[in-house]
Order: sequence, then C-alpha cells, then structure tokens
Amino acid sequence: LQEQLRKSDTLSVVGELAAGIAHEIRNPMTAMKGFIQLLENSVGEDHEMYFNVITSELQRIESIITEFLVLAKPQAVQYQETNLIKIMKDTVELLSAQATMHNVQYDEQYQEGLPHIFAEPNQLKQVFINIIKNAIEVMTHGGVITIGIHETDDDCVHIEIRDQGSGISRDKIKKLGEPFYTTKERGTGLGLMVSFNIIKEHNGRVEVDSKIGEGTVFHIYLPKV
Ligand code: ADP
Ligand code: MG
Repeated sequence: LQEQLRKSDTLSVVGELAAGIAHEIRNPMTAMKGFIQLLENSVGEDHEMYFNVITSELQRIESIITEFLVLAKPQAVQYQETNLIKIMKDTVELLSAQATMHNVQYDEQYQEGLPHIFAEPNQLKQVFINIIKNAIEVMTHGGVITIGIHETDDDCVHIEIRDQGSGISRDKIKKLGEPFYTTKERGTGLGLMVSFNIIKEHNGRVEVDSKIGEGTVFHIYLPKV
C-alpha cells in the first residue's frame, strides 16, 4: 500500500509540474504560429516542405498541451453540482471541426432530467475530450460516434462513448492508461492516463469493451454523490 501511495503521489506531482509547463508553453506557441504563417505567405512555395514539417510539429506540441489543458490550471479545481450533459455537448462542439475533417458524425442519447452530480466540471470535460479525440482519430474511414448518458439502478451515472474504429485487442486493452503507451506515430500516450486518474479521483470507474474491426466502447461510471 505504501508503495502504491508513493507511486500515486509521484504521479500527481509529475502531472502538476507537466501541467504547469504546458500552460506556460501556450502563449509563445500562439505567437510562433502567427509569425510562421506570415513567413510562409512571404517566402512562398519554395520551402513548402519546411513549413509542412513545422506546422505538423507545432500541432503535435498542441495536442500534448490539450491533453493537459485542464490540469494546467490546478487552482481551478472546484467540485460542484455538475450537469454532465452540458459538458458533453460543449465537448462535442469543441471537437466538431476535427470530427467533420474525419467524416465523423455523432449520435447523442441523453436521459431527460438527468440529475446533476458532484464533480469537477473542467476535469470531466478533459476526460470527454481525450476519449472522444481518440474515437475520432481511430475512425479513419469516418462513421458514427454514439454517446449516451443515463442513470443506473445503483445510483451511478453511466457515460458511454462508442466508436466504429479498428478496435483494440484483449492484451492491448490492459495497456490503456499506462503513461506514454501509444500506437500512434504522433501520439503522446498521456490522454488516457490523465483521464483514468481523473475518474479515479471522482470515485468512478472505467470499463473498455472492444471488438477488432468493429469498434470500441468506453463506459464511465460516476457516483451521483
Ligand atoms: P494517444 O492518443 O496519444 O496515443 P491515449 O492515452 O489517448 O494516447 O491512447 C493510448 C492508446 O490507446 C492509443 O494510442 C490507441 O492505441 C489506444 N486507444 C485509445 N482509444 C482508442 C479507441 N477508441 N480505439 C482504438 N484504440 C484506442
Ligand atoms: Mg489520445
């Protein structure tokens, strides 16, 4: 137990540190992006390849930061009565450009009159962003992401995010949430680690169901109080 405690302490210190740094990187990044755009316009097509590389590397930095975005403001962590459906709708909206680019549509099924739960809204938004981003990324031929939010009989709220992607093999499912575990060329392997930690801190749990060639479902269960 002691060992376990130490490990999770280290993780949160490392996480906070990384998050603080991520926050600081945002502003210079924005400036750089602007000036690189200007440069590209004035230098012209001779160096297109260079600009492609720069842009794609900047995007990579940005996705690392996005995965830490909420943790980057630890002072804002504030548990409160939270409307999960609103957070989910905001998230879907936030990722709509990316979804359109991948030919992905949403099928959203929300329980009417769902009770609010006591939670940290920004952190839960972070979880939804990370899981839906993965779903979009894995649907290389487009398709539908089904999102459901409903109460369960045992006083939990069940959030279901289902994709039509490649699926995950049984032995790989065990690796989900390990820091830096990624199968993507441009992946960070941090999104699920951050997400699973947040759900754990909410006394919730995550289950993953997957079928190769059919897709994957993430089930998140959060206690109502
Ligand atoms: P990243 O997205 O940067 O790779 P994540 O922690 O978000 O890091 O995900 C880790 C890995 O889990 C991914 O690289 C991928 O192999 C797998 N994974 C996550 N979500 C899905 C999904 N919906 N379908 C298939 N594989 C997934
Ligand atoms: Mg990811």
